[in-house]
This record gives sequence, C-alpha cells and structure tokens, in this order.
Amino acid sequence: MTRVSRRRLLGTGALTAAGAVVSAAAAPSAAARTAPRTADVVIVGAGLSGLTAARDLVAAGRSVVVLEARDRPGGRVYGMPLGDGTTNEGGAEFIGPTQDRIAALAEDMGVGTYATYNEGKNVYYRDGKRSLYATDGPLGAVPPDWGVVDLELALLKLGGMVEEVPVGEPWKAAKAAEWDAQTFYTWSRSNSLSSGARFLMDAFASSTLSMRSQEVSLLYLLNYAASAGNEANPGTIDRLINTRGGAQESRFVGGSQEVPIRLAARLGDIVHYNAPVRSVVTDAGGATVTADGITVSARRVVVAMSPAIAGKIDFSPALPASRAQLMQRYPMGSVAKFVAVYDTPFWRADGLTGQAVADSGAIDATFDNSPPDGSRGILMGFMNQASIRRLDGAPAADVRAAGLDSFTKLFGDKAANPRLTAFQRWDNEVWSGGGPVGVAPPGTLTAFGPALREPCGPIHWAGTETSGYWTGYMDGAVRSGERVAKEIDAAL
Ligand SMILES: Cc1cc2nc3c(=O)[nH]c(=O)nc-3n(C[C@H](O)[C@H](O)[C@H](O)COP(=O)(O)OP(=O)(O)OC[C@H]3O[C@@H](n4cnc5c(N)ncnc54)[C@H](O)[C@@H]3O)c2cc1C
Repeated sequence: MTRVSRRRLLGTGALTAAGAVVSAAAAPSAAARTAPRTADVVIVGAGLSGLTAARDLVAAGRSVVVLEARDRPGGRVYGMPLGDGTTNEGGAEFIGPTQDRIAALAEDMGVGTYATYNEGKNVYYRDGKRSLYATDGPLGAVPPDWGVVDLELALLKLGGMVEEVPVGEPWKAAKAAEWDAQTFYTWSRSNSLSSGARFLMDAFASSTLSMRSQEVSLLYLLNYAASAGNEANPGTIDRLINTRGGAQESRFVGGSQEVPIRLAARLGDIVHYNAPVRSVVTDAGGATVTADGITVSARRVVVAMSPAIAGKIDFSPALPASRAQLMQRYPMGSVAKFVAVYDTPFWRADGLTGQAVADSGAIDATFDNSPPDGSRGILMGFMNQASIRRLDGAPAADVRAAGLDSFTKLFGDKAANPRLTAFQRWDNEVWSGGGPVGVAPPGTLTAFGPALREPCGPIHWAGTETSGYWTGYMDGAVRSGERVAKEIDAAL
C-alpha cells in the first residue's frame, strides 16, 4: 500500500503559511500525471468537500489521488476576474456564526475574515416604489412591507416546524410525509393572506436557494433552516437570512477562493486538473476511475460534488436504483452574480448598506462587495431563478445592461456608469450545472433521502448536499469532506 507521509503534507503547508503566493495557474497538471496510478483512495472533485477529504485522508496516512475536471480548485468557490488583474467573489462568498468547520479550515490556511459592510439602511423595491429601512430593529433583514405582521406569524409557525426536523435526516421528521408532499409555495399561500408576506417568502426561497418557491419541497426548506446551526446552536431562519449574526456576516480577506487554492497547493501534486472523470468501474477489490488522460485504481472512491453533477459519471455496474434515481431528482438552482466597480462606494455616503431586495428587474438582492479598505466601490447583485432564466443565451452586453438598470433603480444614477462590470453565471457551468446548491422538489427526500450519504460498495459520497449542518454552504462542504474521510478510514 502506498502511503503519503504526513511530513510531506505539513511541509508544503508551512510554505503556504509563510505567505508564499499560491495560484491555481501554478498547480501541476502535465507533470502530475506521471504520479502513481494506484492509491488507497481516489477523490473525484477538488471543491472544498473533495479537498477536505483529501487533507484528512492524507493526514491519516492514506495514499490519495484527486481528479478535478476544471483547471482550478474550488468548484463553486471562485474568484471572478474583473478584467483589471483583480478578482471578486463570483460564487461562494460569506461566512457566519456556527460555520465552525470552514472557519477552522480558513484559519489553518491563514485566510482572515472581515465584516460584510452593513452600516446604514437597506433598500426595498416593490410595486415600483423604492423605500429604505433600518436592519437593527426586531425584524432584522426583513423589509417592513405592509404584510409584515402576516409574514411574522407565518415565520413563527415555520420556525416551530424547523425545530421538529432532525438535522440531516429530514425524512425522519414525524410529519415528513405531509411536508414533503407540498412545495414551499403551497404552504406559504395556505399560511398567509397578504401579497407582501407572500412576496417576502418567495424572496426567501429565491435568495437562499435561487429557486422559485414552487420548485422546492417544504420539507427540504425546513431542513435547510434546521441545518443553519451547529451541535450547540439549533438552526434558525434568522441565521440563514441575516447579515449581522447570520450567514452573510463576514467575508474572506483576498476572497473565499483563497481557501481552496491554498489547501490544494498544500496537497501538492496529488491533485490533477483538467481531469474530468468519465467512468467508475467497481469490482471486488475496489474501483477503477477513468478521467481524461489518467486512470486510477483505488480501494475506495469519493465522489465529492452535487448529486446532479455526479449523475454525469458512468457507473458500472449500475448504482442501486435509490442512488441513481436520487441523482435524477436533485436539480441545481439558477443563479448568476453581477458586479459593478466604481471609484468609490458612493452608496455609503448616501447612508446605505448596499443591500437591497427587489421584486422586479434582473437583480433581486444586492450586497456591498467592496474591498475591506473601501478603496473602491463594488456592488454585487444576485440574478436568481426567473431573472437569469430570462437571460438564457443573452449576449453579455444585454446581461450588463439589465444588471446596471437594476443597480440604478436601487441606488440612483451614480450606479449607471461603473468603471468595470463582470458577471459569473452558474447555470452555464458544465461542472456545476447551477448553484448555489442542489434542491429537492417534493417527494424526493422521503423516497430517496438516505441515498444522499449511503455508500455504494467502494463509492462514498461527499459534497455540501450531503451535510447535516450548513448544507448548501462552504461549511457543509467541509463537514462532508471530514465525515467521508472518517467513514473511509474506518472502513479500510
Ligand atoms: C453564486 C453562489 C453563491 C454562493 N454563496 C455562498 C456563500 O456566500 N457562502 C457559502 O458558504 N456558500 C455559498 N455558496 C455555496 C458553496 O459554493 C457550496 O456549498 C460549496 O462550495 C460546495 O462545495 P462542494 O465541494 O460540495 O462542491 P463543488 O464546489 O461543486 O465541487 C465539486 C467539484 O467537482 C468537480 N467535478 C464535477 N464533476 C466532475 C467530474 N466528472 N470529474 C472531476 N471533477 C468533477 C467540479 O469542477 C468541482 O470543482 C454559493 C454558491 C454559488 C454558486
């Protein structure tokens, strides 16, 4: 059995910690392909889940090969080039309280955090009217629409239901069958009367899952909120949606992509890029994994990605029907991030946080994505579900015009003339298929949920979608990598 020494892993880590500049471009590719073609474990995917699993398995003395389809690590964590030599978060961005495992990983990688800009008022745009609201009141980030009392009553009820969901095993909830038989849309219409409350519940689904509430199982959404915590703090809806005290509280210095880039560099030449895995053939001894240009035989395989994207791999013999059909039933959300760069964060001088919620236009939620020193202003807007679907196939100039039109409506004429714009759409990404997360429609979790994590012979499943806590987030990805490494180490 080949064993990679712990010393080698820690040695490369010391270089990184000392501040060496690490970039995906410097990652090995051709040379790395001369590496041994057998290993204890082959990991498919160099997102946070796959890289974390690799880190822990190597530390346990196992030999590991990581095969990544793209030419970079990080998957849904990506520094989007702005065209002037700098980047801004094009995928995952924020970290918040109870996201302990991504926090620990970032600290280990020497990547610091800073508070998301949150001074001043938020913008609410609904029915053609723009209003401002403070977020330090009892409602937090919820806009004070006239339907807000109705909304609060519905959220109170929803919060009680969240408490009844066993984290990571929602199919075991006493009312799982009832909740998985309806969409969040159906529930929100039966439990509210005002158009304001209904709009804001749709906005909740859209901004957290990039899906229309009609597409999401109620049970899935309840589990998503139940997962927004840790072993000591039960998950809550507030922690999902809030900036202060919630999932959007902080950002990473240098951008979130620093975390996977440094971790991949620490792992060194066991990570192979431009190596999309096409097939996994299992037998009594383990599996043979074939990627473009490289084939690896291993005793165990980790598939570290969303169920929908795992479904593109050819498994032989065929996977059990429960797993195969799960992968047909876990679609990715539709999302893009659009950013505009200005000389200054002008909205701050206008007393605004840069955060907005809108019911129309291409952008339905925004944040201030400026660098920590505010040396220039960067507005970021989410183009979610129907908005980005409307722009399917649109030329970049049309996406840009639609994005700037939204920013101008929300933040005034100064937003109309940025120095630069950029956008990253995820629904066009072959190796992600959308984002931020795979979402279960009704009927999926109760029929196929256990197959999310259940190994199939030598094949183990990681990826944020498999996590109990913080499923859908970077933290969930790291937790899933840690879980799968323990699972395999115990099995080998
Ligand atoms: C727009 C957007 C905003 C987000 N915002 C946040 C946020 O603010 N905070 C937060 O915590 N999370 C956020 N997320 C979610 C976060 O990015 C994910 O939860 C996390 O990165 C998932 O990591 P993963 O390892 O599970 O999967 P992935 O990152 O998807 O990694 C899977 C990897 O597998 C590779 N791969 C796929 N198929 C193959 C194949 N056949 N062969 C080889 N390799 C393959 C992919 O290229 C990829 O690198 C956001 C995501 C998006 C898209």
